[in-house]
Amino acid sequence: MLPAALQARLRQVRSSLLLCRGCLGPLGDGDDGGEAGLCARCWKGLLPLSEGRCPRCALVHGEDDCPEATAWDLGDALWDYHGGRPPLGALLLPGIKQGETGWRRALLGRLSRAPLPDWVAEVDQVTAAPSTLPHRLLRGFDFSAEAGRRIAGRIGQPFRPLLSKDWLSGRQAARTESERRRLPKRAITLRQGASPAGIILLVDDVWTTGTTLVRCAQALKEGGAAEVRVLSLFRAT
Ligand SMILES: [Zn+2]
Ligand SMILES: [Zn+2]
Repeated sequence: MLPAALQARLRQVRSSLLLCRGCLGPLGDGDDGGEAGLCARCWKGLLPLSEGRCPRCALVHGEDDCPEATAWDLGDALWDYHGGRPPLGALLLPGIKQGETGWRRALLGRLSRAPLPDWVAEVDQVTAAPSTLPHRLLRGFDFSAEAGRRIAGRIGQPFRPLLSKDWLSGRQAARTESERRRLPKRAITLRQGASPAGIILLVDDVWTTGTTLVRCAQALKEGGAAEVRVLSLFRAT
């Protein structure tokens, strides 16, 4: 066993040698908020979206200009996908999908502590935008569903996997332009035996154009949901 002073000195030397995987600066010693190979400054890139954003599409725009007008009444995201330098969401999510377990655990931890919109507490069920079966098998996890479970646990409501994404029709969709436009709607359907009821919270990891979320919301409403609300971890603007 080394003397405590020497151990502390070794820790200092070690942390000055380790580089943050986001900014390539010094990683710090872990007491300053650094986590999973990213320094505290990089983690501060989990930035909330702009004040004054639309309560439906979570973008800042003029009145009567909302691109999501018919799909749902309330939609928001916790963090700006391009927030921070380097943009943290754009670093984390692709990394998590490629198997960065430490980042996945750290981000879910931050999701457990992040402030949620007030209206999240009013929902009856939580579900997630589906991934295809080959993706789930390949990755061994479904990050949006994990996020949905985390949120469901926080508000004390059930998480239900209500939607499925059809891999085959998604692949066939590449054939012609008109088919591509027609098929995605059928590619997201209600799971067999799923019965959405009341207000459904639809969770996704990143909300970009919203096309997938619109398909999900339509399937949920056609299946009997009274209302759909959208909460994404990240919003790309
Ligand atoms: Zn960093
Ligand atoms: Zn809007």
